[in-house]
Formats: sequence, C-alpha cells, structure tokens
Amino acid sequence: MTNNDSTGNIINHINKTRLGIIMVKCLNCKRELTKPKKTWTYSQFEVQAYSCECGTNFREYTMDGEHSFTLQLKKGRFVKA
Ligand SMILES: [Zn+2]
Repeated sequence: MTNNDSTGNIINHINKTRLGIIMVKCLNCKRELTKPKKTWTYSQFEVQAYSCECGTNFREYTMDGEHSFTLQLKKGRFVKA
C-alpha cells in the first residue's frame, strides 16, 4: 500500500462512503446539489439524475464508485457535458 496518493480516487471514495453521496455542483450556476432526483443502474454504471432550480438537468454516470462521465440535457437531448 505505497501508492495511495497516486490518484485522487481514494479520497473521492472515502468522501463518498462517509457522506453516502457524491458532491455535485450544477453545471450552470454551481449550486451544490446534494440529492439526486432519481438514481438507477444502467449496464455497469450507476446513474444519478440531478435537476437544479435554475432549470439545468444532468446525469452523472459512475462506475465502481468513480465518476465516469456527465450528460446534460440541452434542447431536449442528453449530450456529453
Ligand atoms: Zn443550477
């Protein structure tokens, strides 16, 4: 166990475990969103859907507890953020 500091993944994982959530900020207004509107599993991903008061909708995809990518709703379609 000599390479714990090689990436930020360990810290992220601890934060997620302790809080039970991933800290997410709105892509538009940077407001912290602590609760996803909805969560589900898609293939090997865990999906968390967020909806901000400013009207921004996006989905965070994580795999094995690590963030994978983000999709944002734009003009009725989800595109990579
Ligand atoms: Zn917002």
